[in-house]
Amino acid sequence: MNEERVTCMFCSAEDDLRSTAHVVPESLGGRNAPVGRPGVTCNACNQYFGQKVESKALRSFPFIGFRVLAGIPSKKGALPYTDTSIGAAHATGMPGIVELQPRDNEISCRVSAGEVSELRVVAEVTEPLAVCRMLLKIGLEQLGKHFYEVAISDRVLAARQFARRPGRGDRWWFILQSKPNEYVFGSEAPRDFSVEIVEREGVLVSALHMTGISSMIPLEPTALPPAAGELPEPEFRTIWAVC
Ligand SMILES: [Zn+2]
Repeated sequence: MNEERVTCMFCSAEDDLRSTAHVVPESLGGRNAPVGRPGVTCNACNQYFGQKVESKALRSFPFIGFRVLAGIPSKKGALPYTDTSIGAAHATGMPGIVELQPRDNEISCRVSAGEVSELRVVAEVTEPLAVCRMLLKIGLEQLGKHFYEVAISDRVLAARQFARRPGRGDRWWFILQSKPNEYVFGSEAPRDFSVEIVEREGVLVSALHMTGISSMIPLEPTALPPAAGELPEPEFRTIWAVC
């Protein structure tokens, strides 16, 4: 590659280009996650996203369920857990194997006696703003990898601002499709990750696909969400994030 200048699309800082840039956070994709173009997001902005946005988003449905079942630790090495109807489900680090910590003694006894055969997980996006901003960043990173000039252009300025510095009252939407049955997988963490940038009716859209989870988010604010009834619920949900 030539010595072309790359400046951060979020803050215009110039970065050293030696660091690896993950399009999908490591705590989600592990080593299988797509890698972006170094410098498109500077180290300082990456750190900001990691601490203020991704750490929250990755503790929210549906990503937390995926991480618990895939056994993917956080960047600092902590294994994730999620609350269920009968206690906390902890990742063990082994894909497909989860350790249940029953909420009380009675539940514990009933689990040991084999009387409990299902557990329910709260399927609510508890952090819509953080999830939305993380999805935007993933899309913008992918755009920056292949179409850097577009990623730093005014066309996606509103998306960059909402991701990095949303203003009070600002809104953005995304579509989430979750199929939790898909991520009850075997002994190997799933490797499928793709982030595609497509143009739909003149609007740039980022589509993320991973095992059990798909999402679509417009990278331009002009797009309207699908009309009610257009996509079947509860498999598909249109979620508004409001700052
Ligand atoms: Zn930056």
